[in-house]
Amino acid sequence: MPETMPLSLEQIFSLAYQAMRDHDADHDNSDALAQTVMTAERDGSVSHGLFRLPAYLKALSSGKANGKANPTITQPTSALVKCHGDNGFAPIVQRRAIPHLIAAAKDQGIAVLAMTHTHHMAALWPEVEALAEHNLAGFACVSYMPMVAPAGASKAFFGTNPIGFAWPRPGKDPLVFDMATAALAMGEVQVAAREGHSVPLGTGLDADGKPTTDPAQIANGGVLLPFGGYKGSAIAMMVELLAGGLIGESFSYEAKARDNGDGGPPQGGQFILALNPEKLAGPGWQDHCEAFFEKLTSLDGTRLPGERRYRNRQDKGPRHINKALIDTIAGEMKDPAAILG
Ligand code: NDP
Repeated sequence: MPETMPLSLEQIFSLAYQAMRDHDADHDNSDALAQTVMTAERDGSVSHGLFRLPAYLKALSSGKANGKANPTITQPTSALVKCHGDNGFAPIVQRRAIPHLIAAAKDQGIAVLAMTHTHHMAALWPEVEALAEHNLAGFACVSYMPMVAPAGASKAFFGTNPIGFAWPRPGKDPLVFDMATAALAMGEVQVAAREGHSVPLGTGLDADGKPTTDPAQIANGGVLLPFGGYKGSAIAMMVELLAGGLIGESFSYEAKARDNGDGGPPQGGQFILALNPEKLAGPGWQDHCEAFFEKLTSLDGTRLPGERRYRNRQDKGPRHINKALIDTIAGEMKDPAAILG
């Protein structure tokens, strides 16, 4: 097993915050990004926590992403919120825009947030969970750069195109699922390569288009496959259309064509939908849906998606972070010892 180092959640936040500040990001942008990184580590979403920080920093260093982004919001109709991200990372854009989406969905019963000119490289559960905390159902999706071969092909065309969904459960943790439409997220494949374990057959193809269980061969010159064959491929295509075509942002291949290749997240968009069960179903929806969850979880072998993360969240202790990753991040900072000791 690779060497790890214990870091408290406060240290994880401070490391991400200070690394951003050391790359000329302002307080608001650094705070929003560091919160996303810390909560990912807190919940055990390790492929989208500190692991992504070096890539965020590269995007700041190259000037591709704006660490002083000041996203602007317009509302062309009562149910449509548009946010121009000013080339900031997604967390600052969401922090500014999601309150408007919540207000619109509360009022209208349904509302859409179209985020453009942003750089997304995080898990999606924080944004949909935020909607469910306000008693709204939420759906979000984002495309990336070509990494996944459509069903039948062996060349990358779709991004790993994750989808996130949340359902409110007043008084309880919301039901949340959040998953790549690739058989495995590229972050998970990279973590498997780093830690030297294989991935299931069906995850991807090597550079010659042959199925492989070696994550390094998939990550370096190979290609991921969609989950569930042609069915997952159709959902990945839907994500391209919602997070690209529908909101006037890029398809994955367009994002790649424009990208400067610095390894950081490309410029793209995010589609977020919020639905209000109080307006659609009316009173009593909570009890009705709780009965559904009770029946579902009474079946042997089932668990609700999101439970693993909520369990991790209860642990307030340190997280054991890959030492080589910490060294990489420290090498990008002016005074890492102030945080790491
Ligand atoms: P996983 O396959 O690990 O998990 C997908 C979902 O399934 C989770 O909600 C998980 O809940 C749930 N789940 C897992 N096992 C079970 C089970 N036995 N029963 C019920 N539910 C279960 O996720 P992925 O590897 O596909 O994606 C990882 C992350 O990568 C996601 O957060 C995604 O947003 C992110 N990502 C981001 C991209 C970007 O460009 N920004 C691109 C691609 C992915 P639980 O968490 O509780 O285990």
